[in-house]
Amino acid sequence: MVLKKSISILGSTGSIGTNTVDLIKRNPDQFNVISLTGNSNVKLLAKQAKELQAEFVCVADSVNYTALKEELDGFDIEIGAGEEAVIEAAKRDADWVMASIVGAAGLAPTFEAIKRGAIIGLANKESLVCAGDLMMQAVQEYRATLLPVDSEHNAIFQVLDFKRPEGIEKIILTASGGPFRTFSKAQMQSVTPAQAVAHPNWSMGAKISVDSASMMNKGLELIEAFHLFPVAEENIEVLVHPQSVIHSMVSYIDGSVLAQLGSPDMRTPIAYSLAWPDRMPAPSPKLNLAEIAQLNFEQPDLERFPALRLAREALQAGQSAPCVLNAANEVAVSAFLKEQIGFLDIPACVEEVLNNFDHKDLKMIEQVLNTDKKARELALQAIEKRSK
Ligand code: NAD
Ligand code: MG
Repeated sequence: MVLKKSISILGSTGSIGTNTVDLIKRNPDQFNVISLTGNSNVKLLAKQAKELQAEFVCVADSVNYTALKEELDGFDIEIGAGEEAVIEAAKRDADWVMASIVGAAGLAPTFEAIKRGAIIGLANKESLVCAGDLMMQAVQEYRATLLPVDSEHNAIFQVLDFKRPEGIEKIILTASGGPFRTFSKAQMQSVTPAQAVAHPNWSMGAKISVDSASMMNKGLELIEAFHLFPVAEENIEVLVHPQSVIHSMVSYIDGSVLAQLGSPDMRTPIAYSLAWPDRMPAPSPKLNLAEIAQLNFEQPDLERFPALRLAREALQAGQSAPCVLNAANEVAVSAFLKEQIGFLDIPACVEEVLNNFDHKDLKMIEQVLNTDKKARELALQAIEKRSK
């Protein structure tokens, strides 16, 4: 008999969460689901809980508690609500945890899973951006395992020689360039949320889609890569590759460049991390290079995409700068999605908050959470000034 892997999914109702559920449903004999968490999509969460026979489910927003209780009435499934319940979901004894909550809201629960020494599929890049040093220290201390789910980092994880870091020259993070890759700044001035979330290659949640359009996503990924891999900041390069076929590369000192390729379908990196260190089949379309015929590359334009410059500067500045960058960006993206500010106001707000912040070292998670809160308050002021 094959021993089942017990798993929890933090953020099971999102884009990464539903792709993870899809893979589990295709392989029911391999997984045993412990907890599932959502925020507002109660119907989907309850459906997943029943299908996967979860032990514990909860909603982050307590307002949805009664609705969840009604949906699961008569089922032998424990339920909860609120931030504490999400922490409880992460604490439950699953071997493997998918960290797929969006934003800094994922930090505290992901940290709980690390403290249990669990194997974590990390999609929630914002947690590494705001607390990278503390998270990586905790991974060492509690002997947890972080498996990057973000497609670029998953690619690097597959081709990087961790045992011989002295042979690595640099990491090349590929970027699609997003829906506005060829837009002038004047054109970007008036783009709508609907245009920004319509990514040319990937189907993703709204926040990361806007981040891809502004290239802040690549900036967050630069910081993510810095924490995950033994490479200095100046040796992490960004290369625009519009087809999203090469998911990233590692260049070695002898001139060899190793890359991981695949169709742009998150079920491949999710399957890799779910089955690690083995492999499992994934339903992603098989790569047909003859059909694609051409792969293109270009340098990123930091003038049209200032978010990428801001992220690199924040990484170089260190201390609280990456945490502030992330918090201000989350608030600005949310205001853009509500049509309160324009697209170019997103990096402008982030830059203003970064410049006005009294940056300090972040030695404890509580300091990270306080910094995140303060940066959000400053971001709201920056948005107010620019409100339409
Ligand atoms: P999404 O918006 O589709 O889903 C977010 C999930 O988080 C949902 O389950 C939602 O209920 C939950 N959530 C939202 N706010 C919450 C809160 N305050 N507290 C607790 N839970 C909350 O997002 P997504 O696209 O699935 O992205 C999830 C994470 O994965 C992000 O960090 C993103 O950067 C990363 N990621 C996503 C993709 C992708 O293809 N979607 C690719 C790489 C990395
Ligand atoms: Mg990515």
